[in-house]
Amino acid sequence: MNYKTDWVYNPAPESADHVRIQERYDLFINGKFIPSVKNAYFKTINPANENKLAQVAEAQKTDVGLAVRAAKKAYENIWSKMDPSERGKYIFRIARLIQERAREFAVIESLDGGKPIRESRDVDIPLAAAHFFYYAGWADKLEYAFPGRKTQPVGVAGQIIPWNFPLLMAAWKLAPALATGNTVVLKPAETTPLTAMKLAEIIQECELPPGVVNIVNGGGETGQALVEHPDVDKIAFTGSTEVGKFIMKTVAGTGKKYTLELGGKAANIIFEDAPLDQAVEGIITGIFFNQGHVCCAGSRLFVQESVAETVISKLKNRMETLIVGDPLDKNTDIGAINSKAQLDKIKMYVDIGQKEGGEIFQSSCNLPKKGYWHAPSLFTGVSQSHRVVQEEIFGPVLAIQSFRTVDEVIAKANNTPFGLSGGVWTDKGSKIFALSKAIRAGVIWANTFNKFDPSSPFGGYKESGLGREGGLEGLMPYVHLV
Ligand code: NAP
Ligand code: MG
Repeated sequence: MNYKTDWVYNPAPESADHVRIQERYDLFINGKFIPSVKNAYFKTINPANENKLAQVAEAQKTDVGLAVRAAKKAYENIWSKMDPSERGKYIFRIARLIQERAREFAVIESLDGGKPIRESRDVDIPLAAAHFFYYAGWADKLEYAFPGRKTQPVGVAGQIIPWNFPLLMAAWKLAPALATGNTVVLKPAETTPLTAMKLAEIIQECELPPGVVNIVNGGGETGQALVEHPDVDKIAFTGSTEVGKFIMKTVAGTGKKYTLELGGKAANIIFEDAPLDQAVEGIITGIFFNQGHVCCAGSRLFVQESVAETVISKLKNRMETLIVGDPLDKNTDIGAINSKAQLDKIKMYVDIGQKEGGEIFQSSCNLPKKGYWHAPSLFTGVSQSHRVVQEEIFGPVLAIQSFRTVDEVIAKANNTPFGLSGGVWTDKGSKIFALSKAIRAGVIWANTFNKFDPSSPFGGYKESGLGREGGLEGLMPYVHLV
């Protein structure tokens, strides 16, 4: 069977006319937009065509200091003292305003980051609103979250987020912090600052007291200044394992609380008794969703030997039907790679995989001439020692191995420094339970992949991080229990 078709879809572009992007965005400190002390700006581009979208103020150490001071003042004088049900009302307001402006947020997320509009419209923005709704509900019910205990907020939270789910990561960080009475200084990623700036507009609109949320854009140095600031009481970081380790060293011995959500190399495991066509869709979602820019991407596929040939053939056919192109087109399955640096990293791994003897298959799509693009790719003929099997690529590149027994696949799945997520495809519930217990990963999906809900905790083992976000567990890092 060959799914490749000769016909093409008519373009179905989402309108961007209603979107307002300013030429310049300043820092959001103490409820106001202000330039950085050095009046420094950097540009953010659309990775699908390399066009400039806006200039964004770059926070220096002094600016970070101003933001922390504003957060501390708001914490001590207002937010930690406010009646929890009042705090909840503000967070509900943020959630509702995101819903009201969902279309605008979705378009900006796709423009700034390169992800398909279908994903930003159906996943990123609704989930971001859902996180604010969920934690708004906890604000006045903390005594039920921690029965028999009293909670105290931690203080000022410094929150640093990556570029793959910009608004959603901001929501994961802000919502539980605010619900528990903390104030925040947030640092978005350098390549995707725009939805955080739009969120700042919403925060102004819902009259959150000045200083409760501050947003400082900039690169690694801005993040580092936040981590090192003595008045920051808690660090919440999502990003690479490398920077995570650096942060851990920096905060060691300071008494700061911290959570780290880091990299992954998830095993997606297909047994011979699985519904194979559904499993193939699950593999596609697992690795090609958001161009593989997903920490929990199913980047290692383990398929049982008896069905390996069938599954790989179905997978290649399905890859040929994936539509790669304009992120704003509603037909698009795979958008642009987020940055030139990330594209170079993916290409480097594709070279390494081939040099190490792996056999590559890439879908034969036409890639746009401008912008950063990579064809969906898979490697066969690789083993546990190959770098494309061991290291996080963070792009649309899948490494496939086969297995014979349950014990063998458990050993192989666990043979990585990471432990963030995994997937199991089988008709047998007993196998699902056995594998989800035996695999050292924070999330195991069964007969599905990449599903998220605010009520369900997320986080890793080993080099995938420390602590949990989401659900009841996600409140923990933001409280002291007394
Ligand atoms: P990254 O380089 O670690 O960057 C993450 C954030 O940290 C960015 O805001 C970055 O600023 C900032 N940063 C860089 N150096 C810093 C330093 N020395 N001190 C403080 N902050 C610093 O990661 P990335 O490459 O952007 O993102 C991809 C990584 O994130 C992948 O490894 C992925 O697995 C991981 N991730 C994990 C999860 C999870 O929940 N576990 C979710 C999403 C992504 P700049 O933007 O200027 O670099
Ligand atoms: Mg950008």
